[in-house]
Amino acid sequence: PQNKECPPDREDLGRATWTFLHTMADHFPERPNLQQQHKAYTLLTNLADLYPCGECAEHLQVEVKNNPPDTRSRSLLSQWLCGVHNNVNVRLGKDAFDCSLLGDRWGEGPSDGSCD
Ligand code: FAD
Repeated sequence: PQNKECPPDREDLGRATWTFLHTMADHFPERPNLQQQHKAYTLLTNLADLYPCGECAEHLQVEVKNNPPDTRSRSLLSQWLCGVHNNVNVRLGKDAFDCSLLGDRWGEGPSDGSCD
């Protein structure tokens, strides 16, 4: 059968990328060694150059230059990414996400068990 799925648009690509990035940050070690910190740093700075949406990539390049990825721990990386995502949200006229709720969305899930 022929593939009836369409290529991703900017929104699909964005949702998939944020899902990957926030989940990766949630799995990053709380006490990373220098090599792990370097790997996360280069992934994020290279993403800014390679991200396949020109306008998005340009913004991300400025962002990582002015506010480099904080890879010193899982919590700092997760909070850094939440801030970067919120800057995009605000630029697009969306509500900012409450970064104290990262674990409910991307980590262990809400304590009411609704995602178990
Ligand atoms: P998304 O913004 O994709 O978010 C997915 C889910 O993440 C949300 O449903 C929410 O549960 C959660 N979430 C939201 N905010 C946060 C946060 N701060 N921290 C943690 N979790 C959060 N689109 C453009 O039109 N122009 C751009 O310049 C642009 N730049 C982008 C740059 C990057 C690096 C990326 C990855 C995407 C970019 N996008 C851009 C796409 C845009 O950010 C959205 O992904 C897209 O508009 C779809 O939005 P959405 O409302 O479905 O939720």
